[in-house]
Amino acid sequence: EAAPAGHSKLQWRILMGFIGGLAAGLLTYAVAPDAAWLQWVVTYITGPIGQIFLRLLFMLVLPLLFSALVVGIAEMGEIRALKAIGLRTLAYTVIVSSIAVALSLLLVNVLKPGQGVDPTAASELLAQGSASAASIVAASAESEAGVNAFVAIVPSNVVSAMSNNDILAVMFFALMFGIGLLLVRTARTQVLKEAIEGVFEVAMKLIGLVIQLAPIAIFCFMFNLSAQFGWDLLPRLAAFVGVVLLALGVQMFVVFPALLKFVAGKSPIAFFRETREASVMAFSTASSNATLPTSLRVAETQLKLPPKISRFVLTIGATANQNGTAMFEGVTVLFLAQFFGVDLSLGDQLFVMLVCILAGIGTAGVPGGSLPVIALILSGVGVPPEGIGLILGVDRFLDMCRTTLNVVGDLVAAQVISSLSREPADTAAAA
Ligand code: ASP
Repeated sequence: EAAPAGHSKLQWRILMGFIGGLAAGLLTYAVAPDAAWLQWVVTYITGPIGQIFLRLLFMLVLPLLFSALVVGIAEMGEIRALKAIGLRTLAYTVIVSSIAVALSLLLVNVLKPGQGVDPTAASELLAQGSASAASIVAASAESEAGVNAFVAIVPSNVVSAMSNNDILAVMFFALMFGIGLLLVRTARTQVLKEAIEGVFEVAMKLIGLVIQLAPIAIFCFMFNLSAQFGWDLLPRLAAFVGVVLLALGVQMFVVFPALLKFVAGKSPIAFFRETREASVMAFSTASSNATLPTSLRVAETQLKLPPKISRFVLTIGATANQNGTAMFEGVTVLFLAQFFGVDLSLGDQLFVMLVCILAGIGTAGVPGGSLPVIALILSGVGVPPEGIGLILGVDRFLDMCRTTLNVVGDLVAAQVISSLSREPADTAAAA
């Protein structure tokens, strides 16, 4: 985990990179939008630097996603006696994440925050972008239509699914692998599970190092984008932030209260009051993992949930139940598709939806954990992954907000699952 002091310094450098790149790009757009040197700078300097940053993220995403997903699933069955709770947690996560992602996709489709930029600039950038995206990752597997798309989720060859960047198929395999690890409990599978946890830890550490390069990369991304789009960029970015906040807000203040009231029979107002400490912690650290000790305490001392259940649900939820992250990833991918004028068919959107639901399970609970996953989904649907540069500058703030939703969502899950699992034994244990 990054030291808090070093981390906040990095945030400042990222912000400076964002503002610096934006200012330099807008200035260029104002004085010399078509200058030959601009093309030169983009082709030989700012373009390649941004590409290297993205390639580093891509390089790490497969080990990260695979290990996070396997570990996330395997942990659900950690304690044998808790099998039923594990299954409920899994079902809850999938259902509530689906609601969250569907909601966010609906909002982006209705509000269209990404539309309205100069179509020629967008298509030029798209042409550059897809060329470079293609050079970064092998073209994503031929997208199939209808029932075949569904069948294609099951890979016939894991290695080729990985090398084709076929994320859904890879995630499916990781899911199966995690379930397999749950089912076979021998000394050897225990070692294997720990080794995969080791892969996860290494990948996380490396992501932390790569993120150190973000300020420079963001300067380059913002320069490229603003020199080509000019002022159009700013209202789009504001609209993006607005839609993300709206989506998170609906989940937090409509969906969660409904679940609390109608499924768990708990007053939402009391719930929000009792969990305030965890929300504040999540907001300020932007990390579900870092907030875990606080949410464990809140669940036991404030919500008074049976520790057996809350410990289990919260520990797993910190990585595996991330409603805010799933929503954010959905909004971001669709927003960038609109921005670059890429038409996503209903099939593509379903793909995004499925990936986001799984990504909510597979994203690490650390600041910026979403970024590599978004880079990967973007290239999967043919949107230039450079687009990530556009949102990086506002990412910290949105990260704080989505992490709060992630953590509150875990506490809601703990509350709901406790009420569904109320057995005489649990009540006795809690009392
Ligand atoms: N920061 C988030 C969390 O810890 C993950 C993300 O980047 O979406 O929950």
